[in-house]
Amino acid sequence: MALNTEEEQTEDYLFKIVLVGDSAVGKSNLLARFARDEFYPNSKSTIGVEFQTQKMEINGKEVKAQIWDTAGQERFRAVTSAYYRGAVGALLVYDISRRQTFDSIGRWLNELHTHSDMNVVTILVGNKSDLKDAREVTTAEGKALAEAQGLFFIETSALDSSNVAIAFQMVVKEIYHILSRKVI
Ligand code: GDP
Repeated sequence: MALNTEEEQTEDYLFKIVLVGDSAVGKSNLLARFARDEFYPNSKSTIGVEFQTQKMEINGKEVKAQIWDTAGQERFRAVTSAYYRGAVGALLVYDISRRQTFDSIGRWLNELHTHSDMNVVTILVGNKSDLKDAREVTTAEGKALAEAQGLFFIETSALDSSNVAIAFQMVVKEIYHILSRKVI
């Protein structure tokens, strides 16, 4: 059977990336902002789609990020192992205006490591950076935790779009670089 080289090129990479973190930290809205440039001011945690596939270009290669949203599963303080299975990247999200969501990060990190590869590329995301007056977790605290756990770190706002695309791109680029080093 003849190979279609164009088709081959478009199927280069597909990365599963999971959003993890407490309820209402903004996971669904980060995905909505990144994939559709939308924001839901009064969303319930159930608005999330199961996953969204987003095309990105890295070093001239087309990469597809399949980004999974918990769609409210985490309200029961656990997410099924199927959710994590095959993930190569993760965004570990807390809300900078609710310390309790930052305190939960260790537990989510344990869960992530229990159900997925230890090498999953993970970024710690302090969301809702627009809520300056309500801040309960400093940027320095976020950075320190990320450094201690060997994670990337960024603060975002799904509301005003700040750093949202960069957060997803950092993860996808790092996965791509790890993978291309292995191939070569
Ligand atoms: P999830 O349960 O983690 O998926 O959180 P949602 O995306 O459903 O968001 C929970 C609530 O926080 C909603 O009312 C959102 O409108 C709000 N929200 C999400 N991201 C932001 C943000 O960056 N800034 C502000 N101010 N509110 C946000």
